[in-house]
Amino acid sequence: MQHTNLFQEEKVLFEPTYGQGSSDVLEVIYAFPNEYTIGITSLGYQVVWRLLASLPGVRVARLFTDIHEPLPAQVDAVGFSFSWELDFVHVITQLENLGISLRAEERGEEEPIVFGGGPVFSANPEPFSLFLDVFLLGDGEELVPTFMQALQQFKGLDRKQKLLRLAQIPGLYVPSLYEVDYESPTSPVVSISSSQAPSLVQKQTYRGNKLSSSSVVTAHSAWENIFMVEVVRSCPEMCRFCLASYLTLPFRTPSLEGSLIPLIQEGLKVTPRLGLLGASVTQHPEFESLIDYLDQDEFSEVHLSVSSVRANTLTPKIARTLAKRGSKSVTIAVESGSERLRQIINKKLSAEEIHQSLHTAMDSGLTGMKLYGMAGVPGETFEDLEATIAMLTALKKEAKRFRLSFGCSTFVPKAHTPFQVYGVDAKAEKKLQYLAKALHKQGVDFRPESYSWSVIQALIARGDRRVGEVLLKAREYGGSLGSFKRAFKELKGQIPPLDFYVHENWNDLSCLPWNHLMGSVVEPMLNKHLLDAQSKMILA
Ligand code: SF4
Repeated sequence: MQHTNLFQEEKVLFEPTYGQGSSDVLEVIYAFPNEYTIGITSLGYQVVWRLLASLPGVRVARLFTDIHEPLPAQVDAVGFSFSWELDFVHVITQLENLGISLRAEERGEEEPIVFGGGPVFSANPEPFSLFLDVFLLGDGEELVPTFMQALQQFKGLDRKQKLLRLAQIPGLYVPSLYEVDYESPTSPVVSISSSQAPSLVQKQTYRGNKLSSSSVVTAHSAWENIFMVEVVRSCPEMCRFCLASYLTLPFRTPSLEGSLIPLIQEGLKVTPRLGLLGASVTQHPEFESLIDYLDQDEFSEVHLSVSSVRANTLTPKIARTLAKRGSKSVTIAVESGSERLRQIINKKLSAEEIHQSLHTAMDSGLTGMKLYGMAGVPGETFEDLEATIAMLTALKKEAKRFRLSFGCSTFVPKAHTPFQVYGVDAKAEKKLQYLAKALHKQGVDFRPESYSWSVIQALIARGDRRVGEVLLKAREYGGSLGSFKRAFKELKGQIPPLDFYVHENWNDLSCLPWNHLMGSVVEPMLNKHLLDAQSKMILA
């Protein structure tokens, strides 16, 4: 790895402290387990970097898989921002390259505290408890300053004492202080307990009026020179598979005048490219007013893009302004063409609304629409696939001279959602092939995502801490699906089989691997949603 001048080409939108403000500097390496171009595009990574680099007495160096800033000789803490399960290989490699013991339990007094945050760790950190000392569960705005202050305060303590003290802070999870019991090595988890740390760790929620925005603008990010503003956090819709909603609730909407407009004005001083981000941006109660604001002549040179919008919130005004400000297409998640399936997953969207959103987009001057869906959703039958084919065929006929594509992933269960108990549908690959064949015949641009990777994602999303051994071996054998199968074969008799984690339904499990970690939505509410979904499956 080398230093490069990519860092010098950045426009940094804040003033780092460079460790000033304290006589005893805390040296931190903050890693993203992928290349610079990908990592610097992550708003979550940018925001935590800014938090770290703004704290007095903290000196932070950024590390990506291809480049890094000058690294300190003596490091107090190494952090990972982790948002994509399949980057696990790079976490292990980065630890190795830094010369840090891979197993947390083998780390000596001179080695740094290894910590991590981000959606994957906040949902289910268990498969990574072999490697990390501390997980930050929840919003960085709340956790990062508290964690750093605690590290400064506990600097003189030995490692064990340090971890014990950290574990008492809300939202900080130290897995080595928890006992996980199984009836046998190949049985599910039966209990999780701790005599030294809180029995439940509560995810922390930030409630300030200012959400995140870019800390850095660069031509070398995946979205070139973009300034990103988080318009909403979470989503109130609660589609039953959706981590972006359940894990991050409550839905938060900063005010337009007091927060969003000042942030946008700051960003537009350094770049004309503006991205409005969030799980459901058009549901911000003042979104139309924000669009009116950006529709003014003074912003005629601005290039505006938004993340996925809900079909029934795409108004002619929003679509026209997006087209006028340089967006070519909009992205809409429909999940399925089947009304029945949309009810099962709690997607409150009618066929008319989907068709209407297409016409709104076509009439506005946009030139395309990207639709997204899923195969293998719990309760899905081949009739539901037929309904998806019929819907896309009809949309394609209506969308003359308009680019229409349909991206399709496999349902992957996520912790803390009502569908956490469902396994990946073993027929999902066949279903994707079926859709591909039928939609190809209709001339629909079909873009399936890899089924094999969904299997690995599910393993990590639903894994307990025994899966850490699988990750180590799979990475040694190259990280492909084949290497995971080989790892499970070698560990036979020591852990449950791959099928248990990935494909089996867990309705009867008394203890989920993340039972000791509290998300945003309480268990009775998750169960209520699950029962409602199941009642609709039976009615079918
Ligand atoms: S509308 Fe989209 S972001 Fe919101 S809960 Fe449903 S899938 Fe998630």
